[in-house]
Amino acid sequence: MENWIYCPNGEGYKHEQGVVEKYKQHFPVNSVGILQKQTDGYAIVWLIGPDEVWSVTKYDVISVDVLLTGDQYSYKICNICHCLLSIDNFARNQNNIKGIVRRPSCTRCRTDIDKRAPKSRQAKQFEKQRPSKGSKFKCPICQKRSIVGVTAKIVADHNHHTGDIRDFICDSCNTGLGRFKNGQDCLKNALSYIQERE
Ligand SMILES: [Zn+2]
Ligand SMILES: [Zn+2]
Repeated sequence: MENWIYCPNGEGYKHEQGVVEKYKQHFPVNSVGILQKQTDGYAIVWLIGPDEVWSVTKYDVISVDVLLTGDQYSYKICNICHCLLSIDNFARNQNNIKGIVRRPSCTRCRTDIDKRAPKSRQAKQFEKQRPSKGSKFKCPICQKRSIVGVTAKIVADHNHHTGDIRDFICDSCNTGLGRFKNGQDCLKNALSYIQERE
């Protein structure tokens, strides 16, 4: 396994294209990374969250067994910022037989996700075109036909930057888009990933 560490102080010298920056800078405290090299007083670490290499003092490098983190433990690594945080930084999602299940992203990262553009004027107008319950509907993405509110749930798909509605789509496709983070790049990557391996 990799030599996983975390940096409780979150400060050091950033490497920019192989060159170490002159001035000390900060990164999120408790960032998780891999120890690459250790000299007398310093260590070179690669931080997985920002995908950056930093020189930090050896006192800012603490080993962590990543397999002993998560919902069953007192510390968990956020899947977005990749900071090692105490478990109460992760909201409870639900309970299952194994115990409490928490969100994979810390509350700080989650507020960033939820910070979306408010409904635009276009959205308020577009909302009037929402297909009514019991009407027929064809999803513009999956092309599946359904009876609104009976055989499928229809949702307004928003552009999270402008707050505009792109169109009404089925709930299943909306979840799908969400999994791809509503990002063009991610969808394109998925498509080329499939095509390249065909
Ligand atoms: Zn986070
Ligand atoms: Zn669909």
